[in-house]
Amino acid sequence: MNSGKIHNKISLYNTLTRKKETFSPISKKEVLFYSCGPTVYNYPHIGNYRAYIFADTLKRVLLYEGYKVKHIMNLTDVDDKTIRDSQKNNQTLKDFTEFYTKEFLKDIKYLNIIEPKKFTKATDYVDEMVDMTKKLLKKGLAYKSDDGSVYFNIKKFENYGKLSGLILENQKENAQGRMGRIKKDEYGKDNAQDFALWKAWDEADGDVFWETELGKGRPGWHIECSAMSMATLGKQIDIHTGGVDNIFPHHENEIAQSEAATGKQFVKYWMHNEWVLVDQKKMSKSDKNFYTLRDLLDKGIDPVAYRFWLLMANYRTRVNFVLEALEGAETALKRLYNLYLELGADTGRVNLEYQQKFKDFINDDLDTPRALALLWDVIKDENISKADKKATVLDFDKVLGLGFENIKVEKMPEELKKLSREREAARQNRDFKTSDELRKKINTLGYEVKDTEEGQRIYKI
Ligand code: AMP
Ligand code: ZN
Repeated sequence: MNSGKIHNKISLYNTLTRKKETFSPISKKEVLFYSCGPTVYNYPHIGNYRAYIFADTLKRVLLYEGYKVKHIMNLTDVDDKTIRDSQKNNQTLKDFTEFYTKEFLKDIKYLNIIEPKKFTKATDYVDEMVDMTKKLLKKGLAYKSDDGSVYFNIKKFENYGKLSGLILENQKENAQGRMGRIKKDEYGKDNAQDFALWKAWDEADGDVFWETELGKGRPGWHIECSAMSMATLGKQIDIHTGGVDNIFPHHENEIAQSEAATGKQFVKYWMHNEWVLVDQKKMSKSDKNFYTLRDLLDKGIDPVAYRFWLLMANYRTRVNFVLEALEGAETALKRLYNLYLELGADTGRVNLEYQQKFKDFINDDLDTPRALALLWDVIKDENISKADKKATVLDFDKVLGLGFENIKVEKMPEELKKLSREREAARQNRDFKTSDELRKKINTLGYEVKDTEEGQRIYKI
């Protein structure tokens, strides 16, 4: 984004306007980008990782187009769930959330997710959350309830519902002309109510509280992200991401409290990934229909195969997770790795024609399925040199993040070499019975044989 640099047009689907828009950042200096991160109360399931792989892919597209990106992701280390489960485990909130934070950081490495510039922990920004709540109280947009909690009055914010399409008129008011109030962090659209900015301490919170000007208590979940985003990126940012289930109430509430506090538009582009389903139902902790990354590792599946599988679909379509499909994706990925290894040691020049096509795809609201198909086309193209193919694959991988750069030529085990020579000889003698037996033996060593016009090829499975 240096002066004079021309970027190709990137179009992105904005949940707020419900259409694809040409990306144009607020500042020439850098793109201000915030992603709702994990609640560190458990191992995230692989559905959650779709949100982070999506944010990472988006960031990679921006970087690929030459933008500087300041990316922040939060870690929710205090909310209803972290408190509940730390107590169940007889651990302090800090010890409990630190453990899952470390596990999360390991996982994102496995998935080739580029670390954000900063992970902000909610507990480090309580002062900012209190300040914002005070501001909203002063402006008359928030009020204190009998127990000392502070609620945002959604009827005072004219645009409440603009992100999720909620129409407040359709909701029931109570005798005081309010929508009622809700202290819980999570609730549905049919339950739109005044939400808690500050939760007065009660016994269930145990030793989790802050003594502040608002009294003894803790912040609500929604204000955490507004305060962290503003503290690290400023009052107005370019992009804010999360899964579709964050649209309501989390992001709707973020908009209300942020814009009510500053009088400015909070986020220019709101972007959300669709769900990972299992048997056509959302993968979720509560439905116990989830897999963690550890489950995949235990089955010997490379986590990058999951990234690859997700990229086969656009981030805005729902995907139904089936283990066999993931295994199929892993086989395809390994094949790509092997074909890449056959390109040899020299890296030539990026093929510009392919590169342009690639940009057209990824800049069209991250069309990764077409970008992946193009990757196969490059590898199979007989008209470009191996060295140029290699350079082009590595170039595409800056966005795809499949880790081609780190693949090493594996030495073929001696036994495999011997079997492979014997099979080649059997084939030349047209002794197909022996050749078939040898193929099976090769399979048992974890390799697969493919007969091509240039002879047999051996792939790791
Ligand atoms: P949580 O830790 O529950 O706040 O969720 C972390 C992120 O994962 C949020 O952006 C959610 O929207 C997203 N998410 C949760 N479940 C799924 C799912 N089944 N598929 C895709 N994204 C999900
Ligand atoms: Zn958030």
